[in-house]
Amino acid sequence: MDRLWAPWRMNYIRQANEVEDEECFICKAIEHTSDRNNLVVAEFSHVIILLNKYPYNNGHIMIAPKKHLSNIKDMDNEIKLELMNCISISTNILEQVLNAEGFNIGINMGRVAGAGVPDHLHIHIVPRWNGDTNYMPIISDTKIISQSIEEAYTILKKAFMEYKDGI
Ligand SMILES: [Zn+2]
Repeated sequence: MDRLWAPWRMNYIRQANEVEDEECFICKAIEHTSDRNNLVVAEFSHVIILLNKYPYNNGHIMIAPKKHLSNIKDMDNEIKLELMNCISISTNILEQVLNAEGFNIGINMGRVAGAGVPDHLHIHIVPRWNGDTNYMPIISDTKIISQSIEEAYTILKKAFMEYKDGI
């Protein structure tokens, strides 16, 4: 697999080391879903979907259970089912609104596995496009990245809301 080059993630890596004991940002997002800064694009019974502030690619989203859990084994089947359904809904929306051509989907369980927030399990969905490994370095300027997050937030929030209206 070609690796994505995401130098702006250095800000995140530095912060992650400094603010280890701070409040869980996923729980904070669950408490304040309407605060734009938390980048929550959808809320379901047991699960929320939010954008990653330090994305590996445009439209990088995270799906998390509302319960602060670190291990899949501690989850009820109902939550597991909703997580899987949310993967399906999210990839479908990312295909439709961002024309994603493929996805990297995964969980980093435990800090040793690379989890930035090891205590609150979440599933990453990173959309991929043909040639994106060449494209991303060109837009690696931090300011452009934050603009593209704002834009992705607006587009995806609208798409998820329309999806929920259609249920
Ligand atoms: Zn949490």
